[in-house]
Amino acid sequence: MQAYDVVIIGAGHNGLVCAAYLLKAGYSVLLLEKRSVPGGAATTEESLPEEAPGFKFNLCAIDHEFIHLGPVVEELELEKYGLKYLYCDPVVFCPHPDGKYFLGHKSLEKTCTEIARYSERDAKKYAEYTEYWQRAIGAMIPMFNAPPKSVLDIVGNYDVQKLKDLFSVIGSPSKTLDFVRNMLTSAEDIINEWFDSEFLKAPLARLSAELGAPPSQKSLGIGSIMMAMRHNPGMARPRGGTGALVQALLNLVKSQGGVVLTDQQVERILVDDGRAVGVRVAGGTEYRATKGVISNIDAKRVFLQLLEPGDVNGLAPELHERLERRIVNNNETILKIDLALEEPLRFEHHNHRDEYLIGSVLIADSVRHVEIAHSACTVGDIPDADPSMYIVMPTMLDPSMAPPGKHTLWIEFFAPYQIAGKEGTGLRGTGWTDELKNKVADRVIDKLADYAPNVKNSIIARRVESPAELGERLGAYKGNYYHIDMTLDQMVFFRPLPEIANYKTPIEGLYLTGAGTHPGGSISGMPGRNCARVFLQTHQPFSQKLREAGNSVRETLESVLRIN
Ligand SMILES: Cc1cc2nc3c(=O)[nH]c(=O)nc-3n(C[C@H](O)[C@H](O)[C@H](O)COP(=O)(O)OP(=O)(O)OC[C@H]3O[C@@H](n4cnc5c(N)ncnc54)[C@H](O)[C@@H]3O)c2cc1C
Repeated sequence: MQAYDVVIIGAGHNGLVCAAYLLKAGYSVLLLEKRSVPGGAATTEESLPEEAPGFKFNLCAIDHEFIHLGPVVEELELEKYGLKYLYCDPVVFCPHPDGKYFLGHKSLEKTCTEIARYSERDAKKYAEYTEYWQRAIGAMIPMFNAPPKSVLDIVGNYDVQKLKDLFSVIGSPSKTLDFVRNMLTSAEDIINEWFDSEFLKAPLARLSAELGAPPSQKSLGIGSIMMAMRHNPGMARPRGGTGALVQALLNLVKSQGGVVLTDQQVERILVDDGRAVGVRVAGGTEYRATKGVISNIDAKRVFLQLLEPGDVNGLAPELHERLERRIVNNNETILKIDLALEEPLRFEHHNHRDEYLIGSVLIADSVRHVEIAHSACTVGDIPDADPSMYIVMPTMLDPSMAPPGKHTLWIEFFAPYQIAGKEGTGLRGTGWTDELKNKVADRVIDKLADYAPNVKNSIIARRVESPAELGERLGAYKGNYYHIDMTLDQMVFFRPLPEIANYKTPIEGLYLTGAGTHPGGSISGMPGRNCARVFLQTHQPFSQKLREAGNSVRETLESVLRIN
């Protein structure tokens, strides 16, 4: 039987990041990936080879913001392994039905000038709003980049600027209370508090709701950071697509002697005397792990699908039931459309400029439009009567992703996983069939054509993936690409549950990483890095831990003293 220090279940980008840190620390690592392509929800694939050869599609993630809030790219020197980020500017375009539009640039000042064409007041407020949320991001970055229960790691991440940011948002009782209230309220309430104009409120609502819930959902005020991040650190895409990030990680992992095996679905985690000692894949092959098994898939899948109940119940009698019943996955996921196009979209009614197509384009006519796009999914309805959507034409920034002169279009349409009233039919009983997904895709494209009428005649080929198919591809419950919902009650030291929130589990040697762990989903690599830190701290002698903690605190103090 093959043996490695560490076996990682799943080669999503977080599994790969985690592997890279462990390999660099001298451990041998095997990654087992169920698909034939590594990367999970971060792949770029030529998925229409017959109808549209040479067109490369980002099947899931496309716009990268969170990864620039952490040190992964620099620490792992991913540029050396082929990664090159292309920054978007403008970052977002949202045409409004009345002919106005929101054009967000990377520069806050330029964005305010755009807003001021329609509302001086909102332009002024937008600057204050963005500066507030950027300070909030600065204050939170140290927490994102550390295990949630590792206070010394968190403290060590504060430099003087981040301390200033922290004090500027919670530096007095009234500021703290305001911040707490902002966290408890909804994105919609915050947007209404700051702004008057619908052409601005609608795209802000749409971006806030990217966390996977309606803008009215209380306790998701933090969604306001989604636009603020586009100004700083900015929004970027790897040249060649999101898969180029995965490729750089693979290059690094392999250069360090790591092994990645594809078409290897892990079916069982092997436990011996309360300790994870390896895994068994479909077909029966077993791989031994002498120091640990790390899961890139969420705790619910791990404990409910991959472990024998008998291996867990003696150690944590309530865990199975808590994972089964307490973890929340609402019903919202994505119907994904990829188009190969003859020519770029043209926003005829909005004084078309090609720069509109550099960032993301939001079809969000009003806050109410966005609200329905999300809340309908929760109750199992498909919001396709008047579709709202998030689209990207990546080939405008990176022409290498299609044959010369041609383009691709990435369309994200929120849709329910389980369709109400169609239980027991379609794929996995969700109600989704090929006919239905294509009907919905037609409606989405019809709506887009209201804004960019040339879309229909430009289509060379298309790929439509229903929520049920997305769920099958990713293996995630209810097609949840964040593994579990990103609501406040499941964040930080609640993610996925308080008792397993620090990447460790009651089974010795079994660790969790991935979107289902702190700080959550999206392309960030943070769960992978944080989990690697916990693993390494567990395996380091106590004296080394103390030295590391001392260094972190010293660096923070030095940065404070240097400035003062
Ligand atoms: C349509 C779509 C658009 C998105 N857009 C963005 C975006 O623009 N920006 C952004 O930041 N985020 C975006 N996201 C979210 C982001 O892609 C994910 O949150 C992130 O990629 C999750 O990474 P991960 O490594 O934690 O998990 P995953 O990518 O889910 O990786 C888990 C891996 O484990 C494998 N696996 C599962 N079960 C097993 C098993 N039993 N044995 C072996 N392997 C297994 C899976 O195949 C997968 O490779 C999007 C997601 C979707 C679906």
